[in-house]
Amino acid sequence: MTKSLKDLSQFVELCEQLKIGVIKTGENDKGQLHIDVYECVTCSGMKPVGRTLCSFEGGLIAGVAEGIFKYKVNVREVTCIGGLGHESCGFDVIQK
Ligand SMILES: [Zn+2]
Repeated sequence: MTKSLKDLSQFVELCEQLKIGVIKTGENDKGQLHIDVYECVTCSGMKPVGRTLCSFEGGLIAGVAEGIFKYKVNVREVTCIGGLGHESCGFDVIQK
């Protein structure tokens, strides 16, 4: 799944406008789009509770991705700052 740099930069810009956090895009080991959110507004500063917490951000990311990439996606949170003690909240964006 390849995306143009223009789409990706639009995606990051929109996420930042929505104040999701500081966004970095990349790929997971399956070549799927992977988004890291630093300074996540939902969970930064929380005490780890052993599960991911940011389904709200995941929903926003899915909405932005579908608007820009023009296909349906599933977003799965795989790392979480507050929930699991990672350094970023990480989301895999998987084309449906
Ligand atoms: Zn989070």
